[in-house]
Order: sequence, then C-alpha cells, then structure tokens
Amino acid sequence: MSSMNASEIRTKYLEFFKSKGHAIIPSASVVPENDPTVLFTTAGMHPLVPYLMGEVHPQGKRLADSQKCIRTGDIDDVGDNRHLTFFEMLGNWSLGDYFKKEAIAWSFEFLTDEKWLGLDPKRIYVTVFAGDENSPIDNESIETWKEQYEKVGIEAGVCGENEKAQSDSRIFLLGAKDNWWGPAGETGPCGPCSEMFYDVRPDEGLLTGKTHEQWVDEFRIMEIWNDVFMEFNKVAPKQFEKMAQQNVDTGMGLERTITVLTGKENVFDTDLFLPIIAKIEELSGKKYLFTKGDLGFEEMPDCWVEDMKSMRIIADHIKASVFIMADGIEPSNTERGYVLRRLIRRAIRQGHLLGISNNFTVEIAKVVQGMYGEVFPEVLNEKVLNILEEEEGRFRKTLENGIRELEKMFPVGFKELRADEIPPSTTDIDPEKAFFIFQTHGFPIEMIEEELKSKNLTVNRDEFNKQFKKHQDLSRTASAGMFKGGLSDNKEETTALHTTAHLMLAGLRKVLGEHVHQKGSNINGERLRFDFSHPTKMTDEEKKQVEEFVNEAINAKVPVEMNEMSLEEARESGAEGAFENKYGEVVKVYKINGYSNEICGGPHVANTGDIKGTFKIQKEESSSSGVRRIKAILE
Ligand code: ATP
Ligand code: MG
Repeated sequence: MSSMNASEIRTKYLEFFKSKGHAIIPSASVVPENDPTVLFTTAGMHPLVPYLMGEVHPQGKRLADSQKCIRTGDIDDVGDNRHLTFFEMLGNWSLGDYFKKEAIAWSFEFLTDEKWLGLDPKRIYVTVFAGDENSPIDNESIETWKEQYEKVGIEAGVCGENEKAQSDSRIFLLGAKDNWWGPAGETGPCGPCSEMFYDVRPDEGLLTGKTHEQWVDEFRIMEIWNDVFMEFNKVAPKQFEKMAQQNVDTGMGLERTITVLTGKENVFDTDLFLPIIAKIEELSGKKYLFTKGDLGFEEMPDCWVEDMKSMRIIADHIKASVFIMADGIEPSNTERGYVLRRLIRRAIRQGHLLGISNNFTVEIAKVVQGMYGEVFPEVLNEKVLNILEEEEGRFRKTLENGIRELEKMFPVGFKELRADEIPPSTTDIDPEKAFFIFQTHGFPIEMIEEELKSKNLTVNRDEFNKQFKKHQDLSRTASAGMFKGGLSDNKEETTALHTTAHLMLAGLRKVLGEHVHQKGSNINGERLRFDFSHPTKMTDEEKKQVEEFVNEAINAKVPVEMNEMSLEEARESGAEGAFENKYGEVVKVYKINGYSNEICGGPHVANTGDIKGTFKIQKEESSSSGVRRIKAILE
C-alpha cells in the first residue's frame, strides 16, 4: 500500500506526462469563459474545446494539467463513496498527435509502474466500446490493452456485454451508453472511450469470472480514469466520418486515485478530506466512523450512515463553495450564484441534522484554505470567508422565518403538541402553499418535510414537484446542458459575434474609460451577451458612440491578426485580458489594428469585413453590483 499523498500524485502525473513530451498548462477557472450554456467547468477537456475543434494551442499538441471541476449534476450522489461536486481532474491531451496506442500504454504505465503509482495490475479492469450500428467495435483499444496486461504477465480475456465472463475476463465490451463520447452538439467530433476501474477489495478474490454487470454496481470497484478517443465527425444523424484531426482526451480523478492508492474504499477517507472531517467532528461533537477493513454503507446501521453522509456532504459542499467563490462568484438567486447558494444551504442543513446550531461554515472553509492554498492560491482570498459568513447568517434568518410561516399552516393546536402526542393520521399540507414558503424563504423542501414529519403532517411531493418544475432548477439545467452548444458551436455567426465582442469591449473602454473590463460573456449565433465592470447606467449617447466605434471597425475591413507571445509580452503590448495565471505561459493575442488588442483563445474571423450586418446594442442593464450587462446583435 502506498504512503503517497494526493499532492504527490498530482506532481507525479504532471511529471510523467512531461516526460512524454507534454506541456503542462495551469488549471482554468471553474467558471468557463465565453461559454453560453455551461455554468461550471465540468471536465479537464472543457476549457480546451476550441483546440479539440481545431484551433492551434500555443503550447503545442500534447498538453497535461490538473483541472478544478464542478459537477452539480452529481450533487445527489454526494455522500456515496466516489461522487463529489468539486474534484480535480488530471488530464492529458493529444491534439491531432498521438492516439489510442500511446494513450492506453501511458495510462497503464502511469498506473502500474513502480516508478509512478505502482498499482497492482491484477486489480485493474477496463471497458472498451463494443461497436453498434453507427461505429465498429474498438479493436485497436482491445489489442492495446491485451498487450499492456501481457507485459506484466497477465492474460486478459475479453467479455461482451451479454456474454458469460471467462475466468480471465478483464476487458469488458460496452455500448455507446457507457463507452462513447460526444458529439457536443448535434454534429461534431466524437468517438469511443475506454474506462479504467480498480478493485478496492482484493481480499474477496479476483473479479475475473464475473460479468461486467455483476461487478459494476458493487462498492468494491472504482472508476478512476477515462481515455476518450475523438476519431469521428458526426455529420448527420447516423452518419459518421473519420476525422482529419484525431484527438485524445483523458480524465483521471485525483480524489478517487488517492483513494485506491492508499487502500481505502471511499474518497472521504483520504488526505483530501480527513482534515475537513476532523473539523466537522469537532464542531458537531459526533464521530465519523472510519470503517477500516472496510465496511461500506450497505453493512452499516442506518443511524451511522445518516451522520456520516451528513459529514461527507458538508465537507464536499463547503469545499466546492470555497472554490466557486475563489473564482469570483457570489451567492445569488440566478445561475452560478444560485448553485453556490444551494451548495452552502445544503451544507448548513446537514449541519443542522448533526446538531450544529451556530455558524460553522467559515471554520470549515478555513481548513479548506489551509489544504489547498499552496496549489490554488486563489482560495486564500479573504472575500471567501466574508461572503460565507454573511450567507450563513442570511440563511439562518430565512429558516427562522420559514418555520414561523409553516407553523401557521399547521391545524389549530398542533404547534403545541409533541410528536408522540400527535394522532397518527396524517394531514396533507397544501403543496402550493409549501412551495410558496420554499420560494419566498428559500426553505429547502427536505427541511419542510422534516418539520412537517415531526408533526405527522405530509406534503404531496408530486404536486410540490410540479410546482417546482414550473420554475427552473438551474443546477440541473447546468449539468444537462453540459456539452451542448457553447464553445462547440463554431458557426460563422458565433465567430463573427465573438470578434464583435472584442470590438465592443474596446469601444466601451474608449467611451467609458479604462476601468471597463470583461466580466463574462455568453455568445451564440443570434446575439451576444456581455458583462463588464462599470458603476452606472450607460446613457443613450454613450451607447451610440460604442455602436459607431464597432460599426466603423466593421466597415473599415481590418485584418484580425493573431500572435502568440508570453503573458508578459502581451501585457507590455497593452493587450486587454485577464492576467491571472490561467492561460498558461504563452498566450494568443488577437489584434485588430487601430481598434482592439486582446488576449483570447479564439476563434475569430480573419477580417472585420467578414462580420455581416450592423452592430446594435439592444439592451444595457445592471447585472450585479458594479457590473453592467449588454445584449447586442448584428442586424
Ligand atoms: P462515474 O460514472 O463514476 O460518475 P464518469 O463516467 O461520470 O464517472 P468521467 O466523466 O469519465 O466520469 O470523468 C473522468 C474521471 O473523473 C472519472 O474516471 C473519475 O475518476 C473522475 N470523476 C468523475 N466524476 C466525478 C465526481 N463526481 N467526483 C469525483 N471524481 C469524479
Ligand atoms: Mg458521472
């Protein structure tokens, strides 16, 4: 068993891929730039989509990094042994360079070689795409896996989805549902993937001889890494063409990897969580049960499970919240701010279940800062603690008010009764009223239910959900829209609006002043939405001047030049852009001579004359404090 810690794995991973000719790039923000459909960065490949789509990356064709990821789509699974809303994804990419053979061989080498992780190859099982009516079975991956196992003296058999497993089955064939990625939109790059799993309970014997179905749902098998091979271009429904640029995109979860490497069964039992759990134990006076050996939840009494789940959820959610706030998001009732608010409130609710009645989230956030400050210095921002303190105070007030409102809905006399005095016949509470409380007070439905349960009252959850559905659950939308549209949309219109946004920012800075910087943008083929720092409403005259500036640039048909340079050179050239260390050492600067000079990943039109139409600001409004939002079109 290894005594390596998570930070050593991170370093080793990057060192390994550096030795294989990869440039190491820094983690991008958890808040995606220039992406209209996605609230958070959900995978390492996400910030790299333009390059996977063919843009040239300034650091070359082989890249590796450790990317901060937020997956709100996994929020309901948090508390199990392997799902988190915040995790780090270690990734390596080939942008039209190496392909399956190298990617698989390197994955195996990194996992098993004593010089690197030294995991036991006998405990590794993999899945490969089985083939379907659209695309053939991935034989190259199967052969490559066999070779890898052979090198360490293991004969690896192949087992189809509905076949009986052989005594040596290690390579499992699965359909598109599990082993196919993409395309991002209706059309575009896509391809098969191959996932690696590790057996965390080897004492129970080998898993060979079992079908995939027999082991996949068990606690003992943990997915750690996924290699995606983007080899096809989907051009129309059921029509796939081999792509000119074949890419590799891999993602390895740091938390899961340290788990299996240290002989544990769940991600919370590792150095990426233990200090946080210890703090929660201290604050709640309850013990987290480390079940060495190791018991999964399925073997534990319910009351233990509940408390442990609460602790896990608090640990995960506050960690995720710290990283989201560190990248500039504050709690609010829309979009990212809403997701953040929901994470914080869910954590407080779990604290409530553990019997913590005072503000506690800041204490936990401080532990997170201590754990991650060195690698991700942005978490040390003082604002993080202030915002959290304020949000928790606000929520506690909300809870008090909500409970008061709820009590008004109880039948006369109920309020005074103890639970055991209440007649067993339950009374339904009007779901519409319950929803009203939820909405106006931000009272979580689970808490409404708990309060009601203590009075033997129920609320019709289906009816309530119907009410709820009417309103958007943004965090869900966020994950559902994961790779749809957005940067993968490289339609001409979108590209034109992207260049227009550069011109507009330059115009805003000229008309309003140098204090104006981009705060976010959201561009699709129809319109651009753009947030920028500015304290007051723009006058009609100011808007007109900005429009004139942009239209003049369009009419002047100026070439759009792209140059690669170091961040320092970019800054010296007066380029506009975020100068935090998130673009890597070498950046691309798009210059529209006489008009705009800005750091950006692209893509852009070649000449402003390619922008068809007249630029028009449709709306200018407040976005948040000190930030204005413009909606604009080309008509
Ligand atoms: P699972 O099926 O277990 O949810 P996935 O197929 O969604 O995993 P990928 O999208 O392939 O995972 O992501 C690549 C890697 O990132 C996974 O192999 C895993 O190590 C890690 N990972 C994915 N989701 C999470 C999560 N919610 N928490 C922690 N690690 C994760
Ligand atoms: Mg998943």
